Amino acid sequence: MFKLPNIEKESGFSWQSIGNIEEGRKNMGPNMPVFAYRLFGFALKDELVKQYGNEKAVEIFRNAGKSAGFELANNVLDLNLPVYEFLAHLQDVFKKNSLGILRIEEFNSSTGDIILTVAEDADCSGLPVTGETVCSYDEGVLSGILEAYTKKEYIVVEVDCWATGARICRFEGYIKEKIEE
Ligand SMILES: [Zn+2]
Repeated sequence: MFKLPNIEKESGFSWQSIGNIEEGRKNMGPNMPVFAYRLFGFALKDELVKQYGNEKAVEIFRNAGKSAGFELANNVLDLNLPVYEFLAHLQDVFKKNSLGILRIEEFNSSTGDIILTVAEDADCSGLPVTGETVCSYDEGVLSGILEAYTKKEYIVVEVDCWATGARICRFEGYIKEKIEE
């Protein structure tokens, strides 16, 4: 049987997957409304929930977010900055790209524990309050960014969300090996 040479990566996704937006959207430009982003994200999540159940859909979104965060960090962020400068730079990138208003609530430089908040989050601000956190993609994005910067695997959990009635999203991050001890 014909067999393809085994040279492909497990995943073909990378920053290059985005393509050349400048070249491809000379008149439209790089921006589009938040509703279009949410239509895509929520319709996709709904289909994943229907086909695989809620738990699996959340896991898929979180893992996808992690790949996205990792690629974003490695292609947009300056990973050589000292930690506090890096966090300020990250806030700036979130703001400049309308992702949300990022704040660092707590950071423990010896353990790596971090608490971040995102106000006016692109994913959830303004959603109906259901009592459940919905930003699993963002959990992944933040863990991917923190992992790219620290070279340590991070677990990031959203503890407050617009959808829980909190008005902002709050994320707690921990280095993975530490909580598995
Ligand atoms: Zn949220």
